Order: sequence, then structure tokens, then C-alpha cells
Amino acid sequence: MEDALEPAKKRTRGLGAVTKVNITRPRGPPLRTAPQTHGQTAAQKVPKKTGPRSTAVSTALGWKGLGSMSKENGKKPGKRPAWDLKGQLYDLNEELKRYREKNQALDRDNQQLQEQLKEAQQQAKTLGTECSTLEEELTRVRTQAEQGQQELGHLRAHVSEIEEQLSTKEELLQELQKEQLELQEERRALATRLEEQERRQQALEAALSSSQAEVVCLRQETASQATLLAERGDQLHGLEMERRRLHNQLQELKGNIRVFCRVRPVLAGEPVPSSGFLLFPPGPAGPSDPPTCLSLSRSDDRRATLSGAPAPPTRHDFSFDRVFPPGSRQDEVFEEISMLVQSALDGYPVCIFAYGQTGSGKTFTMEGGPGEDPQLEGLIPRALRHLFSVAQEMNGQGWTYSFVASYVEIYNETVRDLLATGTRKGQGGECEIRRAGPGSEELTVTNARYVPVSCEKEVEALLHLARQNRAVARTAQNERSSRSHSVFQLQISGEHAARGLQCGAPLNLVDLAGSERLDPGLALGPGERDRLRETQAINSSLSTLGLVIMALSNKESHVPYRNSKLTYLLQNSLGGSAKMLMFVNISPLEENVSESLNSLRFASKVNQCVIGTARANKK
Ligand code: ADP
Ligand code: MG
Repeated sequence: MEDALEPAKKRTRGLGAVTKVNITRPRGPPLRTAPQTHGQTAAQKVPKKTGPRSTAVSTALGWKGLGSMSKENGKKPGKRPAWDLKGQLYDLNEELKRYREKNQALDRDNQQLQEQLKEAQQQAKTLGTECSTLEEELTRVRTQAEQGQQELGHLRAHVSEIEEQLSTKEELLQELQKEQLELQEERRALATRLEEQERRQQALEAALSSSQAEVVCLRQETASQATLLAERGDQLHGLEMERRRLHNQLQELKGNIRVFCRVRPVLAGEPVPSSGFLLFPPGPAGPSDPPTCLSLSRSDDRRATLSGAPAPPTRHDFSFDRVFPPGSRQDEVFEEISMLVQSALDGYPVCIFAYGQTGSGKTFTMEGGPGEDPQLEGLIPRALRHLFSVAQEMNGQGWTYSFVASYVEIYNETVRDLLATGTRKGQGGECEIRRAGPGSEELTVTNARYVPVSCEKEVEALLHLARQNRAVARTAQNERSSRSHSVFQLQISGEHAARGLQCGAPLNLVDLAGSERLDPGLALGPGERDRLRETQAINSSLSTLGLVIMALSNKESHVPYRNSKLTYLLQNSLGGSAKMLMFVNISPLEENVSESLNSLRFASKVNQCVIGTARANKK
């Protein structure tokens, strides 16, 4: 700012100097010398231009004109006569004399004027010098002024920039102030919360110290409880072992081989059999006792009495461990076998077969009825659900169970995987039954899927897949499913890690091929020959099953397991510690009477067998 003001001061000083010069030396118009040849004319003009000063000069010269001269002399020169030459000469001299005087006066004036002129020129020169000095100074001052202006412009720009910065800073300041206010508010709130927390902390500390005291008490209590618990655990384990032993004893008392007979209801559209064709006499304890007997009456047309009247029907009585008349529900059937499922969990191999002619209800018993009706669910889904829930309960006692499922079909002595997926689906790439390893008792089916299962949904998916695989096969070979054995195997492994105990056993659920014989009266066309081969294979494998059971029952040294793929695959689940249940499925129709009798006779033979005391597969 001071710098900005400086040129102004300088300017003021400069102007002051000029003013001084003007005051001390007033500049008048330059004087001009009057032309000497036309004195009078010049003299007359001078006063107009020079003002009072010129009047003074003319007065000094004494120019009063001829008229004034005459008045001075006091006499008016009269005109001399022509002859008066002497007088005229005198006048002329006189006149010359005046002129000379005038001339002298004019010379003096002139001299004076020249001096004045010199002086004026001198002054003009001085003034010129001064003027150029002043002009220089003016130029300098102007330059300075311009610089000043520029500087001022810069300064103004700078000032506006600073003002802008200032306003930004002010805005920032306002924001910061606002923020500061907010922070102060927050700080206050935090302080309040802190106080509250401190209060709570104090309360918690108090609670903690009382809790710590409580913990000490509880620890002591826990220690004593743990001891008690360990004792109880031992007791419980002892009880569990005892339960297993008793359960097994009970099963053995019921028989290691049991046979249940199930008669399916007459289906819609089927001829209703005559009353008395099938009878279900009540059990020994009366009608409340579940039936164990079944009577089948057969009228033989070939046998006639002597009188020619038709022979009375022959009555065939059969007795089994349990008989399920038509109308027995799936859950009732399962209830009877749930104990066997428990045996499988306890480590005893279990085999459940469904035997009977095609259409007698084997698949209905094993897998269930058509559709999604849960009431119609068969033994396989019910057994697995039961296993999963019991395994869950046993978990509380320290037992961990795992389950691996496989499902194969044995058709014409070839094994096919029913759980095949992808490209193998329905194609039935051949499978072989092999020992799991050298020296191992365990058998495995090569190329077959072994699927770990842990819930009902997974089992449902497997059964669905098996149905799909069978359906695909059916297109290639009609009704193949009834001409083959379906074997659902579930390998159960249980472990009690804390006690280092392990148990494992297979549960086998087998839907056997139709047991019907080929009608001997049928002509043997090329299709029938195939059918005959099939039937022979089925009959041979079913009779091998009967022979194996018989050999086991008679404790024969050789058991013909190898005579069929079915008995070979099931050899570890038959005999010894194993439990076996056979469902003999019977058709209620009179037209099926011979097949029904065949089935009932086969089942009766099996029912007479007793397999040696079972031992649990404990490791
Ligand atoms: P199989 O497997 O022995 O050839 P299925 O199980 O296929 O015989 O049964 C033949 C027909 O009879 C099927 O339509 C089935 O639904 C029906 N069926 C079988 N048993 C029963 C039953 N207990 N209750 C109702 N329907 C049954
Ligand atoms: Mg079937």
C-alpha cells in the first residue's frame, strides 16, 4: 500500500515545482521588434497587440504625430512663398533636425527593446529548458503513473483473489464451526453414554464377582456331577449292552428265521373269490390275538366221489409267525419288523425277503404302493426312517452311525446296478460280485454305486432312480422287473469312540422274482424258450435260497451259496448271527390257488428251519 501511495506523493511534489516556476517567472507573449521602415504604421499596430506596455513605449518615443508637434511649438507653420527658398531651406533643416532627434529617440527605444528582447529570449530559453525538464518529468511521472496503474491492477486482482480466498476461508470456517458444534453435541452424548456404561460396568462387576463365587460352587458341583455322570454313563452302557443281549434273546426266541404271510386284497376288476376260499383262524389267545394261521380250500375237479358228486374242497392249513390278512396296513406290517431293524443297528446282519408269484404284492410290501401316499410307503423307506431316528437317539449315548446304500438287480444270473446314473443309466453295464479285498469276508459289487445316505429324502431319491432304471430296462425286455431279484443293501456302521467300540452289519431288503412256474401245457415258441430259460434261472435261484436256508438249519458243512448269484451276494447275511424274515405274498384269487399253495409250501419249509444262535458282529 505504501508503494502504491508513493507515486502520488512524487506527483504532488513534481507539480509543486512546476507551480513555483510559473509563479516566480510569469511567461508573457514574446516581444516583437517593430519594423523600422514603416515606423508609424508599426507604432499604430503595436498598442493593439501589446496592451499597456506598448503604450509606455510609444510614450517614451514621443510619437505624438505632427498635429501634436504644432501644438508644442505654439505656432502654426505657414506655407512659404516659392521665392522664399531660404525660408523653405530653414524649414526643411528644422524638420530634419526633428527627425534626427526622433530617430535618435527611436534608436534608443530600439536598443532598449533589443535588450528586452534578449532578456525575453534568455527567459524563453530558460523556460524552454525548464519546459523540456518538466516534460521529461511529466513523461517520467506518466510512466510512473502507468506503472502505478498496472501495479494497481495487479493489486486489485490480488485483492479480489485474496477476497475470494477469504470468502472460501470464511465458508470453511463456518462449516468447521458447525462441525465443531456437532462434535461438541456428540461429545456430550458420548459422555452421557460413558457415564451410563460406567454405571452398568460397576453393576456388571458386582454381578461378575457374585457369579464368580457361584461358578466356584458350580464347578465343585459339576465335578461331583461329572463323577456321577460317568457312573451313570457306565450304568447306561451296561444297560444298553443288556438291552441288546435281551433284544437278541427275544429275537432268537421268536426265531432267527421268521416267516410272515401276507395276502393282498382283491383289486378292482378282479373276480371276488368264493367265501371260505381263504380263512384266517384267530390266534391261540382268541380274536384279539394277531392271526398266525391261514386255511386255503381247493376244490379238485379231477377227484369225484363214488356217487359222482363233486369232491368236497381240500383244506390246507398253514401256520406262520404272523399272518396278515387282506386289508392289513403297511404300518402294521412294519411294526412287526421294526425289532429286526433294531437288531441290524445292534450289529446283527438282517435279511428280509418278499417271496411269491408275480402280482402277489411283493413290490407293494417292499417299496410301497403307487403315488406319493405316505400311508402306502413300503418296508424299505419305513425301515430307513426308523434307522435314522434310532441312530439319532443313540447319538446321545455316544454312538455315531453311518449308512451306505446300494441297490442291484439279479436277472438271469447277471447283476445290474439300479442306481446307475448318466450314460450307464438303464443300460445295466454288467456288475460282478467280488471280495472287497484279499482275505476279506466282505463282498462288493463291482461297477455298482455305493451311496452314503443320512436322511429320508436321499433314500427316496435312490428308490426313484431305481424305478427309473427298471422302467428303462422294461422297454428292452418286457416285465423284466418281476423276472428279477431286487436287492437293496444298507451297510450300517456304528462307533462308540469314547469306549472304542464298533459294530457293523448289513440290512438286506430283497424283492424276489416271481415264483410262478411255467405252464407245462404251453407250446414252446422262440419267445417261450427264452421265457423258459428265465424261469429256470429264477426257479433255480429260489430253490438254491431254500437249500441254503436248509443247509444252514441242518448245520451242514457245505452251504451251496455259490449255486446262485443271489445266495452268493447274501452269504454274509444268512446263517450264523444273521436274522432272516421271509414275507410270503399270496394272491387272494382262486385262479392263483396252485401258485399260492406252492408259495405256502415253500414258506412252510423255511419256517421249519432254525438257524444257530446269532452272534452280534462286534469288533
Ligand atoms: P409283485 O411285486 O409281487 O409282482 P405288486 O406289489 O406289484 O406285486 O402288486 C400287484 C398289484 O397289487 C399292484 O397294483 C399293487 O398296488 C397291488 N397290491 C399289492 N398288495 C397290495 C395291498 N396290500 N394293498 C393294496 N394293493 C396291493
Ligand atoms: Mg414286483
